[in-house]
Amino acid sequence: MTIPRIELNDGNEIPQLGYGVWQIGNDEAVAAVGQALETGYRHIDTATFYGNEEGVGKALKASGVARGDIYLTTKLWNADQGYDSTFRAFDASLKRLGTDYVDLYLIHWPVPGQDRFLDTWRAFIKLKEDGRAKSIGVSNFRIADLQRLIAETGVTPVINQIELHPQFQQDELRVFHEKKGIATEAWSPLGQGKILENADLKQIAAKHGKTVAQTILRWHLDIGNIIIPKSVTPSRIQENFDVFGFKLSSGDHDAISALNGSNGRIGPHPDSI
Ligand code: NAD
Repeated sequence: MTIPRIELNDGNEIPQLGYGVWQIGNDEAVAAVGQALETGYRHIDTATFYGNEEGVGKALKASGVARGDIYLTTKLWNADQGYDSTFRAFDASLKRLGTDYVDLYLIHWPVPGQDRFLDTWRAFIKLKEDGRAKSIGVSNFRIADLQRLIAETGVTPVINQIELHPQFQQDELRVFHEKKGIATEAWSPLGQGKILENADLKQIAAKHGKTVAQTILRWHLDIGNIIIPKSVTPSRIQENFDVFGFKLSSGDHDAISALNGSNGRIGPHPDSI
């Protein structure tokens, strides 16, 4: 199965479907990421905060898959924001991951209260210039944060990784991203598994002979989102990868659009981190 690739605003490409590893311990990550690579995933999303960069690195090595065939993302944790501290944190991440570059480096949260994301971004720009981070982006940035980042540095992030699922569709941010050439990457694309019992989704899934998880992932791909579903269960890792052999109708899309809730956020609000 060839996974579609999305072209980013710096000319690099990212596989639209990847594998996320939040809440997977270092040891468990070795097996889980190994399983994902065996299934065919070639895009792994980790973060310093997840505490499993070492396990991810071990799995990459053990898989025998060439480093150049894997798209690897990690993220800078909030406490490490700042110009000099970013380089230190980045070096430590590379060491744990056992690699000399990442494909994508993200600022994990804007953290408006500490107001250090501009200096952090200037360090990111240098990491990109040096080729150690092939692409640079952000996560959980609000429209005002993105506007400020772009106005003050002139460098637009390639991606904003945000909470996004049928219950929380983030239309305003998605429209803004599109205007600015920022790709939208959905975290918790399955709503952390909490939206899989929805009756409308079940009905659509049954019509296509697919699971609710597959139906939701298909919806994301159709609207152009990059997705990084997580599971440690081998059958689900495979299920979440098997989302290319069917099509949702425009009626299905309308029904899923209607699930967007005014109060659908599951994770924390960027204002409060
Ligand atoms: P998710 O939406 O991917 O849901 C994962 C959960 O859904 C699993 O733990 C499991 O309980 C269930 N699940 C997965 N596949 C299933 C299937 N086929 N059938 C039934 N249940 C299934 O949630 P997530 O882990 O929060 O998000 C995915 C990734 O996004 C993370 O691993 C991480 O890489 C990233 N993330 C980033 C941020 C950020 O701030 N940037 C925050 C949260 C998550």
